[in-house]
Amino acid sequence: MLVDPKDFPILKQKINGKPLIYLDNAATTQKPRKVINAISNFYTKSNANIHRGIHSLSEKATTAFEESRAKVAAFINAASPKEIVFTKNTTESINLIAKTFGELNIKAGDEIIVSALEHHSNLLPWRMLAEKKKAVLRIIPLNSDFTLNMTEYAKLISDKTRLVAITGMSNVTGTLTPVKRITSLAHKAGAKVLIDGAQYAAHIPTDVQSIDCDFFVFSAHKMLGPTGVGVLYAKKEILETLPPFLYGGDMVKSVQQDRIILNDIPHKFEAGTPNIADVIAFGSAIDYLSEIGMDRIREHDLKLLKFAKEKFSKYKEVALLCPKDLQKSGGTLSFTVKGVHPHDIAEIFNQEGIAIRAGYHCAEPLIRGLKLNSAARMSFYIYNSLDNIKAAEKALKKVLKIFK
Ligand code: PMP
Repeated sequence: MLVDPKDFPILKQKINGKPLIYLDNAATTQKPRKVINAISNFYTKSNANIHRGIHSLSEKATTAFEESRAKVAAFINAASPKEIVFTKNTTESINLIAKTFGELNIKAGDEIIVSALEHHSNLLPWRMLAEKKKAVLRIIPLNSDFTLNMTEYAKLISDKTRLVAITGMSNVTGTLTPVKRITSLAHKAGAKVLIDGAQYAAHIPTDVQSIDCDFFVFSAHKMLGPTGVGVLYAKKEILETLPPFLYGGDMVKSVQQDRIILNDIPHKFEAGTPNIADVIAFGSAIDYLSEIGMDRIREHDLKLLKFAKEKFSKYKEVALLCPKDLQKSGGTLSFTVKGVHPHDIAEIFNQEGIAIRAGYHCAEPLIRGLKLNSAARMSFYIYNSLDNIKAAEKALKKVLKIFK
């Protein structure tokens, strides 16, 4: 394991009399004491509303909030903190782009491209937009090894494509998509690119300038931060052209009888009182991740994934739903066991104190496309160890024994 488990107080507990082994990190990660303390410290020492007050507490809260924005910008190598909009989660960030960029730029007959890997959050906003605008939604199929079929992608792209919205890392198969190539091909056709980084940002060193995507979205809670904080990165020149998503306080400079003067970016997109304490605590999560280093987190993921693939692939009843090439995966391993419903697998793992997830993983078209009704998923993070995977193998043996 990469960190001192004592940093994560929740992991100390027992579940069903067994030490908790938390392998549901793709759903949400646990929080280090540093993040928990940041929330408590804010309410104990700095609580005030931001951007409005002249008084010292408000200034203190505003400074800490804006420091978090700068930390997020540096973490993904954005050109400026002005390119970072705080939302409540990845889902809201994507909907914001659908309701602003989408409403403005997508017309009848235009095309939006997504992939067969998408989470409902990066599928439904585009499906609804396409329906409303009489645009066409095109879907990049997968190769047999769960990677994106880039040949088909190249064929789908045309001068009708306005937007390519694609996950950087699947929350089911763990597939890493070639985000740079996807972006450069889209740009050649004049289309904009949104990368769903909900899993990617937590596991892969992220450089939005190098990817050159137009939008990149992710959630704090999947990378040690609190729930209720999402990020929308957008290139400054695009953000400046978009209309507000919500109207209210803080997003205008002046409200007059006959006109309003909108606030500058990014505040134009942050109407109302934001989730101040949790945004500040997200800054602490970024500090924690940066102290470890995202390169080391990637190495750790690969070590765990390699070990888990070796262990689980020994059993003929087990099918692994992940790319063959280790380098094409993030730290997530979905699997099925012949003749056993994934919910039963998750239940037996739970009896052993191991938290895994089973179901559609909010990616029903993907799971159905794989001719499945459900899959079990182990997803790893920095506090997981090779011993955790050995325990998972033991639980798998129990599953096989019960359903013999
Ligand atoms: N996209 C992907 C790839 C995800 O894994 C998730 C969360 N499971 C989301 C989007 C949605 O994230 P949130 O629920 O934080 O909005």
